[in-house]
Amino acid sequence: MDCIFCKIIDGDIPSTKVYEDENVFAFNDINPQAPVHCLVVPKKHIVSVDETSECDMEYIAAIFRAIPKIASALGLKNGYRVITNVGEDGCQSVKHMHFHILGGKKLPESMG
Ligand code: 5GP
Ligand code: ZN
Repeated sequence: MDCIFCKIIDGDIPSTKVYEDENVFAFNDINPQAPVHCLVVPKKHIVSVDETSECDMEYIAAIFRAIPKIASALGLKNGYRVITNVGEDGCQSVKHMHFHILGGKKLPESMG
């Protein structure tokens, strides 16, 4: 499958890993939009939040267990933002579900 994030998970494309467990992989975004900007992805190729099935829920749960651990490890003591873009209008450019963690500064109030 020609998926950048599957290749990153498999180590075929290099990345700066910030977290890994059985179901989840997280790495720094190549084009950071904030002082801290990483991406949290399921190790299973799930296209987006809009295309999950019941058997994907363990991955979703694992992602939300991992996010506060990652935020803590990255020193985001004062809060952060979690974003997932979905489809065309959401400007999702990589079709492997991912959650952006942004922080390390006071983020703009506007979200679109
Ligand atoms: P989206 O626009 O789909 O929500 O976010 C995709 C994100 O993946 C973008 O922020 C982009 O900078 C990041 N990205 C795309 N290709 C790569 C890559 O090869 N390595 C890393 N680390 N990030 C990538
Ligand atoms: Zn993938």
